[in-house]
Amino acid sequence: MKPSKSLLMVFLLPILMIVLPAVLLLIIALQVSQEESLQNHQLQSNDLDTLVQMATFDRQLGDLHQRMTDVLSRVEDINLNAMQRYAEYGVINQELTQISNNIDRLATSPLIFDLSQESADALQRVFHQYRSFISMANEAATLNQGEPSFYLQEAQHHFTTFNLFSQQIFEELTLRASARHRESYSALTNTRASILWIGLGLFALLISAALFAAWRINRRLVTVGDAILALSDSRQPLPDLQRVERLSRKHTGPLQRIAVALLSLRDTEQKRRHAERQVHQLAYYDSLTGLPNWRLMKEHLQHSLETNSQTNTYGALAYVDVDEFKRINDSIGHQAGDELLKQMAERLQNLGQQAATIGRLNGDEFAIIIDGLDSDKLKAAEKAELFASQVAHALTQPYCLDGHYQFLNVSQGLVLFKGIDDSVDSLFQYANSAVHFAKRAGQNSIRFYDPAVQAQLESRTELERDLRLAIENKEFVLVYQIQVDSQGSAIGAEALIRWQHATRGFVSPGAFIPLAEETGLIVPIGNWVLHAACEQLVAWQADEHTKDLVLAVNVSAKQFQQPTFVDDVAHALEISGASPHKLKLELTESTVIGKIDDIIARMHQLKALGISFAMDDFGTGYSSLQYLKRLPLDQIKIDQSFVRDLHHDADDMAIVETIIAMGRSLGLNVIAEGVETMEHWKCLNDHQCHAYQGYYFCKPVAAAEMASYCLAPPPTLT
Ligand code: C2E
Ligand code: MG
Ligand code: MG
Repeated sequence: MKPSKSLLMVFLLPILMIVLPAVLLLIIALQVSQEESLQNHQLQSNDLDTLVQMATFDRQLGDLHQRMTDVLSRVEDINLNAMQRYAEYGVINQELTQISNNIDRLATSPLIFDLSQESADALQRVFHQYRSFISMANEAATLNQGEPSFYLQEAQHHFTTFNLFSQQIFEELTLRASARHRESYSALTNTRASILWIGLGLFALLISAALFAAWRINRRLVTVGDAILALSDSRQPLPDLQRVERLSRKHTGPLQRIAVALLSLRDTEQKRRHAERQVHQLAYYDSLTGLPNWRLMKEHLQHSLETNSQTNTYGALAYVDVDEFKRINDSIGHQAGDELLKQMAERLQNLGQQAATIGRLNGDEFAIIIDGLDSDKLKAAEKAELFASQVAHALTQPYCLDGHYQFLNVSQGLVLFKGIDDSVDSLFQYANSAVHFAKRAGQNSIRFYDPAVQAQLESRTELERDLRLAIENKEFVLVYQIQVDSQGSAIGAEALIRWQHATRGFVSPGAFIPLAEETGLIVPIGNWVLHAACEQLVAWQADEHTKDLVLAVNVSAKQFQQPTFVDDVAHALEISGASPHKLKLELTESTVIGKIDDIIARMHQLKALGISFAMDDFGTGYSSLQYLKRLPLDQIKIDQSFVRDLHHDADDMAIVETIIAMGRSLGLNVIAEGVETMEHWKCLNDHQCHAYQGYYFCKPVAAAEMASYCLAPPPTLT
């Protein structure tokens, strides 16, 4: 059988399973019902016959009896001769015999038999008695012996009895016939109902069987269909086809052939994919280390370029080259050299940088693509450099080869990329040329292809190195900027750090404070500032003009968050002997973001010592007013950016007004910084600002200059 035909059978089978038995069932039911009806009909017609006979033979007997009476009366009149009488009696006798036969048949009819055998017997008996009297009357008349009329009377008597009796039987028979008719009708109805119920039951059974068969067939077809789909999708892993295997084992015929064909297709596909994988592996992966090769790295880099362009972040391509690998290879042998490269690949893979793709280009050259570094170029360069130094650290650890330790150095060339302006080939070229610069710079060097980036990184590294030495070399000094009240009289000063470097000259805090914060150097620097400020306070206490000045010291977030900060401040106060009431710490909004409860607790500890707090650069951060309300502040310092264009910019004016009003409502002193002109001062004074700081009153100057330069009587407000 062809598969198409057998599949047709598969679909037709459930239909045939229902239709054929249903038709068969219908025919049987019709036959049974017809037979039952026929029997019923036969019974009814038999009963009817019996009743008709019963009704007619009464009349026949009546007629005969009349004729008999007539004949006998004519005998008496001697109208008939002997031959005629004999002939007449013969005829009557014949008819009587016929009636007798009829009665016998009647007596044995199922209806009477069903009614009662006794009735049939009684009827026969009465008739025979009647007949014997008729015969006797006949003989008497024929042979002229005795009185025929006497026998006729007796016969008449029995005839009447017979009539009455037959009448009664007829009535009973009629009733019995109608009862039998009802019974047979109800039997017929019952039979039909039974056939109907049995039919329905069988039909339901057949439908269930057909549905079950259809479900099983459907399951097999779905199994086959799923397997075909799974095999046809080359992106999906190969299916195990367990159900198809079962089909091939448990079935015969076309379904088995299909299952076998699918299994062989799966095996072929498995081999094809394996071969494809091998080809892919050979084409895109390095056979020694299993890392992506140059071709695949190029594809990865292209992908990275597109991704970084979308996210607008810098990525980096690092070229890693082993220093003097040829010499190592020659000294330990090529096999050990291969082992070394394998261990290097493992170490690179274990670096744990998720967004890094590592590949081996050739020989001793590895490439690393690092994605999503930063949107800022310098920060991206810093991160790339950090990663490169981790690579250098990992690769320069000793290698164990056949029980011998081997050491090596690597040079790295880095190039940053963002967007798709650079081609993949040129980036590889740039990284390669950067690695040559690195090699020239000495072992374990890292070099960027971009000279500007390289220069920035180098200067940053140098700055950090110098900053570390600055405290030791006593290169920091504090300058002081006077803070005045609304009359212009000095009420305090802010300590501002200056870095006087031997070769760099003066370095502004804006250039080194962020680096100090990033590297954590702000902690020792800030500590130095605290000590220097306390010493200055002690010096001021001795002078009549400066003894009441409150000195504000800037504190970085990182410094404030040091667990020892409270102790450090207390220690600085203690060893200097400065009054804590003259010390004010300036915090910024970034300091009070985070664990607010800890910060508040720490502020309270310091306040308990007598120290006051100012919120510096107020208005530039994002701290919530809810927090501000909870902080134990004494002063808020309006940032100079709002003061600068105060009398030109309505927005700045509105902000300044709001800050002053808010400070007042919170019971805080408000100081404005960056007051450069008389207009600034006047405007702020008009809005009832409490204190002022700025070039208008005094630039930040050394402590020695302050007394002569800044504590002079102020210009009067006009
Ligand atoms: P800051 O705390 O807001 O200090 C005010 C800055 O504004 C100072 O700059 C000051 O010289 C400058 N200034 C004062 N009046 C005027 C004015 O009228 N016009 C203009 N244009 N500028 C004015 P400086 O000394 O360069 O300090 C810059 C920032 O460096 C400080 O801002 C502070 O955040 C930080 N800083 C300075 N010294 C220290 C320190 O000892 N520790 C810490 N952590 N940060 C410090
Ligand atoms: Mg400040
Ligand atoms: Mg400020």
